[in-house]
Amino acid sequence: MRLKTRFLSIAAGLIIIAACASWLAYRELSADLIERWGQQVAEIQVRYDSARLLQSLEREIGLARQMASSTALINWAKEPDSKALEANAIHEMESFRDNFRDNSYFVALRESGRYYFNNEKDEYADQQFRYVLSPDEPNDAWFYQLIEEGRDFHLNVNPDTELGVTKLWIDVLMRGPDNQIVGMVGTGMNLDRFLQDIVDINQEGITTLFVDYNGAIQLYRDRNYIDFASVIKPEGQKNTVDLLFEAPEDKQKILGMLQLLKKSSGTAGHVESGFVTVEGRQHLAGVAYLPAIGWFEITLLDLNTLLPKSYLWPLVAVFLASLLITLMVFHLIIQSRIVKPIVGLEEAVEKVRSGSFILHRLDKPDNEIGRLVDHFEKMTESLRDSTRQLENKVAQRTDELNRLARIDPLTGLKNRRGIDEALDDEIQRSARSGNGFGLIWLDIDHFKSINDQLGHQAGDEILCRVALWLKASLRPYDCPGRWGGDEFVILLSPCDPTTLKQIARRIRESVEVESRKTGTPVTISVGGYFSEPGDNTDRVLRNADQALYRAKKEGRNRVCINTPEDTEINPA
Ligand code: GH3
Ligand code: MG
Repeated sequence: MRLKTRFLSIAAGLIIIAACASWLAYRELSADLIERWGQQVAEIQVRYDSARLLQSLEREIGLARQMASSTALINWAKEPDSKALEANAIHEMESFRDNFRDNSYFVALRESGRYYFNNEKDEYADQQFRYVLSPDEPNDAWFYQLIEEGRDFHLNVNPDTELGVTKLWIDVLMRGPDNQIVGMVGTGMNLDRFLQDIVDINQEGITTLFVDYNGAIQLYRDRNYIDFASVIKPEGQKNTVDLLFEAPEDKQKILGMLQLLKKSSGTAGHVESGFVTVEGRQHLAGVAYLPAIGWFEITLLDLNTLLPKSYLWPLVAVFLASLLITLMVFHLIIQSRIVKPIVGLEEAVEKVRSGSFILHRLDKPDNEIGRLVDHFEKMTESLRDSTRQLENKVAQRTDELNRLARIDPLTGLKNRRGIDEALDDEIQRSARSGNGFGLIWLDIDHFKSINDQLGHQAGDEILCRVALWLKASLRPYDCPGRWGGDEFVILLSPCDPTTLKQIARRIRESVEVESRKTGTPVTISVGGYFSEPGDNTDRVLRNADQALYRAKKEGRNRVCINTPEDTEINPA
């Protein structure tokens, strides 16, 4: 995998891991925040709803309590057969009817079971005594139940089959001076109107319901769930609040909250909350106890409606945008600060490896890579310098070796290879220019016996001296060489046959005269050939060799010139 791809993958991976971790942390945090927020909303909602409920009820409850403590009613309850007291009491009832919100009331006497009622239409004017309650009548069970329980105040949602109405009843016990229960009074409010006002509120995502002390549903927008006549139902048959929840743990949770609130019922305004599922949607349930009426209020907040998931989209968009921007920035940084300098360095290394030291300007970021590139450039420079020095030295040595390969180490003259090359060059030059040149081939006479008599060392010295005398007898541009043993070859160019002869003679004489001075006289036999343009090497050498051979044959210490026309032999 390429460096950049690897870096970017790692960066993307790290960002995604960090994002997942942040997301998890955010979820935890947001669940906590939502719960707190929900709790506050639930508290506010509960207070608001409670206030609305209590506002509607408080006046009615106050009136009902006032009615229950009415002397006219209490006195009559003690003597129910007194027509005068009854008339007085009915007058009192009717004045309360005018004050109750729904303009209805009921009064039931304990002893006689006599039940009085009138409604807003004053339907039962002069017939307020409606019927007699009976402990054996199931529809009347509420009355006996409440008396038995001795609860001075009770709210009850109950259909009155006799009267054909379903009402929210406020029941208040009427007690005599000795605190004996003498009856019950109260008012009934039209349930539908009440439900409309209190729980059918049109707040999307918020559901409000009221349950009684036992958890039985009393006010709820769906009438089917309302636990009518709850007071007379045995435990287990009531429509309790847990019916709204499917999951057993949710049922447990909500009932648990009711229990908790019952325990802390003294703490006014305390709200319990928790997450529950209603109809497959997550809700936050807020529960509060309303001590004034002995009910609980439950507010269900539909979180998906109140806090729709779509509010997360901007967050996801911000995350994706920041991921993209981060990767792009990362890409640009890696590209300019790492990848580009490294690729440049790689190319430069390849160039240097293939022997080219001319580098283009390399990227040098201000980091370790930049320093590496800098070191590489310096290293390349010194490598280039030392390579150049080495190459120069090698060239010098090669030149030297080439020169030495063409030099006779003893005499310092060209050796056979040097002569051969010079001869080839001269033959070509001659062919080009059309001018001939001269070649002299000479051999020391009886050199073997000199060696034998004086020793090989002395022989070498004589060879050196002959070389010096040769050079001295030649023009600067003539080219002498040692062919091997005691044989020397001399190239004369420019030259003509006459010059050839003159130089050949001069050499022979010089050796003879000069050697005599040394006390070791030596002579040489000289063969010469004047080469015409077009001659080849073999022919030139062969002709010069033949001339030398003749000079030896004819007595030595002489010059024989082999020209194309004739051969001149010069006796010494
Ligand atoms: P000629 O007159 O026929 O030339 O008789 P020569 O004795 O000179 O015979 P030749 O030229 O054939 O002999 C060459 C001798 O030169 C043979 C060898 O011992 C001697 N020689 C060859 N190279 C060297 C050398 O480098 N140093 C010495 N001291 N002697 C050499
Ligand atoms: Mg010889």
